[in-house]
Amino acid sequence: MSRVRPGTRHYTLVCSSCGTRHEDDGLLLDCSHRHEPAFLRTEYDPDVVPGGESAGLFRHASLLPVVRTFPDIAAPVVYPAERLGRRLGLDRLWVAFNGHWPERGARLPTCTFKDLEAYTVLGRLPVDPPVLVIPSAGNTAAAFAWAATENRVPCLLVVPAPALERMRFPAPLDPCVRLVVLDGTATYSDAIACADLLARLPGHHAEGGSRNVGRRDGLGTVMLAAAEALGRLPQTYVQAVGSGTGAIGVHETAGRIRVAGERLPRLLMCQNAPFAPLYEAWRATGQAPAHREHEPLARELTNRRPPFTVRGGVRDVLSESGGDVLRTDNESALAALALFEEVEGIDIEPGAGVALASLADAVRAGQVGRDELVLLNITGGGRARQAHDLPLIPAEPWLRVPWPGLDQGPRIVAEQVERELTGAANVVTEGR
Ligand SMILES: [Zn+2]
Repeated sequence: MSRVRPGTRHYTLVCSSCGTRHEDDGLLLDCSHRHEPAFLRTEYDPDVVPGGESAGLFRHASLLPVVRTFPDIAAPVVYPAERLGRRLGLDRLWVAFNGHWPERGARLPTCTFKDLEAYTVLGRLPVDPPVLVIPSAGNTAAAFAWAATENRVPCLLVVPAPALERMRFPAPLDPCVRLVVLDGTATYSDAIACADLLARLPGHHAEGGSRNVGRRDGLGTVMLAAAEALGRLPQTYVQAVGSGTGAIGVHETAGRIRVAGERLPRLLMCQNAPFAPLYEAWRATGQAPAHREHEPLARELTNRRPPFTVRGGVRDVLSESGGDVLRTDNESALAALALFEEVEGIDIEPGAGVALASLADAVRAGQVGRDELVLLNITGGGRARQAHDLPLIPAEPWLRVPWPGLDQGPRIVAEQVERELTGAANVVTEGR
């Protein structure tokens, strides 16, 4: 029995396609062999037990791909939601709450489960890491901005302008955290296109999104917390998805901890109609996702390039778990937000409303049985409550660029970033 020790890696990365084992350098995203796109997966040394933190996220360090841990980082809170279950017609509904809800012990700093992945990704990095380039619809950027500020890890975050609403923190961002805002009509997909180019700048590196094992295993701690609370795996797991990274991570984690013969939870992934690319892909309806005439309530669910066909990706985990993709509309999601707040007394994020509404629909349709042991992942909540509890400061963008459209946009943004970086370097030189 050995312990998770700083600086040593107690895991190996294994390719989901060819099975090649890779030693991790803290940044590796892909297998070096030529084949279909495939996720790397972590395989943990079974003899390692957690060391260091006795509570919170990093209590699970033996099942996280990290070489360092951070103290006092909250973990998901899992509780039996009996009243909410009764309203839905479920006898065994449990909630995993990720957000700010002090009475329940939930205190994720940016109010979504993206905090779990941000700290895990930072804990995975080598000493003297490159600048991590991260595109986001908002929640991921907020989580990384704050975790990187607290730990002085250099990051370049790219977000569309509406994401700024969510970029409010207890203190100003550290100067090593650079926030690039795309003004005008830019979307999450545009931010992704820019980040692809920015990651090629010298000293910069793509964080990798769903390809980063730190993200998936960090989000998988929801299943670790649930298994502890339930004493077993849930039968059905319900979560709103954009890329599906969280659901994939939860599925991988369930596979690591299940006892012999235990069934993997059925994954019910939920999207917000009319923009539901994973729903379309899974049903293979051939319909192109609808565009902007109806804005989805949950912007964070609008990833146009989710990892569907990649080996180990959404299609594989849906098949392996006997899962399904559901969708619901804005009206039902809004009603679900109100229901949760009425029953539980805390606000939740639009994405979590999409998950709750989809679950309610599935119960009504008989797709989920009354006596099923269901875990509903509330992926974000308590933002209004946090704003009431704490004074928060809006983040200052490092650079704002009017979005000129996808043709020219990424190149223009990359040039401006390069110019800013060179300018900053000159200022430092002159100051000496
Ligand atoms: Zn491979």
